[in-house]
Amino acid sequence: MSHPESVEHREVIVIGAGVAGIYALHRLRNLGVDALVLEAGDDLGGTWYWNRYPGCRFDSESYSYGYSFSKELLNEWHWKERFSPQPENLKYLQYVVEKFELRNGMRFNTQLEKAVWDDDANRWTLHLDGGEVITCDLLLPAIGLLSAPTLPRYEGQQEFTGQSFHTYHWPKEPIDMSEMRVAIVGTGATGVQIIPAIAENVKSLHVFQRRPNWCAPLKNGSISDEEMADIRTRYDDIFARCAETPGGFLHGPIDGSFHDATEQERYEFWDELYDKPGFGIWLANYREVLMEEDANAEFSSFIADKIRERVNDPVVAEKLIPKDHGFGVQRVPMETNYYEAYNRNNVTLVDISEQPIDRIVPEGIKTSADTYEFDLIIYATGFDAITGAFDRIEFIGQNGRRLRDEWEKGPRTYLGVQVEGFPNLVMLAGPQGASVSTNFPRAIETSVEWASDLVEHMRSQGLRRVECTKEAQDAWVVEIEELYGLVLLRNAKSWFTGYNSNVDGHDIKRHMIYNGGAPRYRRRLDKVVANDYVGFVLT
Ligand code: NAP
Repeated sequence: MSHPESVEHREVIVIGAGVAGIYALHRLRNLGVDALVLEAGDDLGGTWYWNRYPGCRFDSESYSYGYSFSKELLNEWHWKERFSPQPENLKYLQYVVEKFELRNGMRFNTQLEKAVWDDDANRWTLHLDGGEVITCDLLLPAIGLLSAPTLPRYEGQQEFTGQSFHTYHWPKEPIDMSEMRVAIVGTGATGVQIIPAIAENVKSLHVFQRRPNWCAPLKNGSISDEEMADIRTRYDDIFARCAETPGGFLHGPIDGSFHDATEQERYEFWDELYDKPGFGIWLANYREVLMEEDANAEFSSFIADKIRERVNDPVVAEKLIPKDHGFGVQRVPMETNYYEAYNRNNVTLVDISEQPIDRIVPEGIKTSADTYEFDLIIYATGFDAITGAFDRIEFIGQNGRRLRDEWEKGPRTYLGVQVEGFPNLVMLAGPQGASVSTNFPRAIETSVEWASDLVEHMRSQGLRRVECTKEAQDAWVVEIEELYGLVLLRNAKSWFTGYNSNVDGHDIKRHMIYNGGAPRYRRRLDKVVANDYVGFVLT
């Protein structure tokens, strides 16, 4: 396929101006690469641009979330809360983009609809939503793991006469909900953040819960000038700590064994964890809690008792305790007064495992038992995670192969970086990489640095094409499957296993993520480079 001279051509095109795309552009520009970022939204920020719902904030400590690549940036930015809220996070990303003068390398309101590989010219042809066509040598999707929101498939959704939207599309203008009868569908991390944040500002709130989640206290707090000054002196240690934990968080498994401690010692330790901020309760626990059924059951029972202590109505408390999975096998929603919200007179839990939603009606939600009237329905129903954003773009590789078809039964990649048959497509934080269950920016830095080193290598060697071999991909997929076998999250019915009742074909378990931990993943990437990019063919 050839294009007239007039078609714009770039050396590298990055898709998405979120946390990954921003850093990729900075890094590529520093290498002197002619790079352009295309972004569907009307501004940068990715996750932190779209998710504007009340209560939205980090679940990793703010100072472990920011970029680590610039000492100057680290010294300039003041995180005001331990778990920073969305408006502040968006400001941070805007600050980074202005500081490093990246905005002029970004094109907004530009949706990539189709990308077609040209095997003769060794380049990608991109078809954009406005009908425009651009070509590039290398295509780097940085399209996010949780950027394809999914609505339920209840009949009648369009007939609802009030306002309704998915949390990902929360309106930019504030909504006065004080006189509104509000419904929220979904109790994942998003629902768990919104519910207590709006409970006292709405006339009434009905929570439609299909399955409860195991949640733990976030313990947010402000960060004073003095504390921030101290944090700045410790940044090297903070990032070194993140680099050694499996999830890239400050929290990693302790040395002590579940089995060596007495029951009383375990409960004392868990009480301490419950009072500490952040993911320690999930990730700085005994290793066995996430790997052995019995240890997991005992810890789950400890958390169940905490829920019973915090919820006044014992019937409601029991409904809030998960019965179908143990603590931590799904990503743990971190909460602030979540359970206490159910003690309010204006908050009602509707258990839709008992009274399923029949349909949406003009006045509200009809279940098998009742019809509830609402002014606003909030869908906190999650995402077609990890592969959904890829599926929404038509990627056509060698011999007309469609990525969507290749991944019909789940993703297949080499290192989460490439897919066989799709040369010069280098995914940033892609499926089956180590970014998914981690502190995202830490994994993003690994991914962006590795990919930009590859770009530099190709330029310096005059190489025009990179593609992974089928053998390397098959072996990686086997490794991914084996790692799932080691962790209890293999049993989860969540986005970690590709489950989503709102997407066709996503009722089967998929192998979406690398469960070997970030340090091992990084070592693996380094080894691939040291072995002359083994598994890739560079020509
Ligand atoms: P999610 O964890 O997938 O939760 C979706 C919720 O909607 C679940 O409760 C699900 O019920 C329910 N649901 C889905 N379809 C439904 C239907 N048709 N009818 C009724 N209920 C339905 O999505 P999320 O809450 O948006 O969170 C996704 C991920 O985003 C999190 O795991 C986390 O990694 C990230 N996140 C992070 C933060 C943070 O603190 N930084 C905040 C929010 C989100 P079932 O459980 O029965 O499927």
